Amino acid sequence: MTTQDYNLYNHFSTQIDMFGDKTLLKTEEEQSYSYGDIDQETARLANYLIRTGAKPGDRISAQVEKSPQALCLYLACLRAGLVYHPLNPAYSAHELDYFIGNAEPTIIVCDMAKLQVITPLAKAFHIANILTLNADGAGALIDNSRDCSTEFEVIPRSEYDLAALLYSSGTTGVPKGIKLTHGNLLSNAKSLTQIWGFTEEDHLLHCLPTFHVHGLFIALNCVLLSGASMRWLPAFKTDIVLKYLPESTVMMGVPTYYSRLLDDPLFTADVGRNIRLFISGSAPLKEETFAAFKERTGHCILERYGMTETNINTSNPLDGERKSGTVGLPLPDVDIRIVDDEGSPLATGEIGNLQVRGPNVFSGYWRMPEKTDEAFTENHFFDTGDKGQIDAEGYVSIVGRTKDLIISGGLNIYPKEIEILIDNLPGVNETAVIGVPHSDFGEAVVAILVKTQGATLKEDQIIASLKSKIANFKVPKRIIVLEELPRNAMGKVQKNILRERYENLLS
Ligand code: AMP
Repeated sequence: MTTQDYNLYNHFSTQIDMFGDKTLLKTEEEQSYSYGDIDQETARLANYLIRTGAKPGDRISAQVEKSPQALCLYLACLRAGLVYHPLNPAYSAHELDYFIGNAEPTIIVCDMAKLQVITPLAKAFHIANILTLNADGAGALIDNSRDCSTEFEVIPRSEYDLAALLYSSGTTGVPKGIKLTHGNLLSNAKSLTQIWGFTEEDHLLHCLPTFHVHGLFIALNCVLLSGASMRWLPAFKTDIVLKYLPESTVMMGVPTYYSRLLDDPLFTADVGRNIRLFISGSAPLKEETFAAFKERTGHCILERYGMTETNINTSNPLDGERKSGTVGLPLPDVDIRIVDDEGSPLATGEIGNLQVRGPNVFSGYWRMPEKTDEAFTENHFFDTGDKGQIDAEGYVSIVGRTKDLIISGGLNIYPKEIEILIDNLPGVNETAVIGVPHSDFGEAVVAILVKTQGATLKEDQIIASLKSKIANFKVPKRIIVLEELPRNAMGKVQKNILRERYENLLS
């Protein structure tokens, strides 16, 4: 490896060489994979993807369940210079149609159960290669690669070459592909491994999904860059997490995981006796959760702040005060500033728009140069769409969002996407989709709509129609019909009034 090579996989290779026989991960079924096993499997897959026709820079779309083989697919893409494009397994045909058409992958990998949906889409977009990979790790991807070599020379990548493409739905309802480079991932991986003190002694409880930056990059990169190990669980389930917490030294999760643990009386300080660090992010951690967790376990959850476009920007410290209600200090190589609506920097303590600059910040939106230009200032700060403030000690707090976004159970939902679908239903005049407080998910989706004259609308019919088009986590928990929506003098729907009115609807 030359010092010029930014291919993230090459930076894992040091650990792979050093810890060849060491267990990297164990599944719930106690299947065990060493660093060496993963290296061989990713070589086989990289060889096979190339043999199938993929060339460096090509996208590989994967709508697969979390499994050791799915992890190998991601790592094989890195290794072969391919761009990994993960898709939430909950996405429907309607959602997939846009993502596949926009990403234009060379190969789609999906669960056998999804073939019926994916095959016509692939045909429509002239994608010749569909490979199956099921939750149990079986499928054509693995079968067809069996005769491939377990050696593969990592394809060198520059700082600016793409490693992954992840989508954010955006406030217009049209999803934008976020271009993440090897340089972005590597800089953040190095910073986090260092500031969170990861070593080969660590054992991470990995229960996050791997179609999102949190589970795919933040958690995984810290393990692979430090030679640590992990328990690889398909999802967060309280009883299973309780079973594996005692063996773990670090847990990463969204706030919902922590409130669910607290809801279970079996979660005691003793269960987390070997844990040195609980980390939370992807959504605001309530101060009451922080306090209750400290009281129950003695641990101060370390809250950090990031987004798909930037990976992690700020983190409360490993050593030093973890301030509840804040997301901590900027990472060493990350600049954070708070500006007013005209872009002028604000003083300490003032609330304004949070902007970020650093090697972690994405290289732009996929095939959307205008959207990219809009998102960055002249001096290369990225406008996050979050409202924040910085205190005298440099701790950042997120106090709200300028972007219309709901975060439910750590997953993002852009109201516009749902509003467009409901507006298109017969009998609907207009719709406002909002997030309301929810004890488990943090926020939950509620749709408020106005009927056309004389129309009769049934809540269950609207819900059923939405369920056929979008993933379940985006479907409103309640539909409310009003005579009219509250508007300001400019005619803009006042969602803040609706949020206040329905604040206690689901809590
Ligand atoms: P995503 O791109 O899915 O990671 O979502 C990014 C958004 O989640 C950010 O722009 C914030 O609005 C929100 N977010 C992430 N972490 C935190 C946090 N610790 N506190 C408050 N909001 C957060």
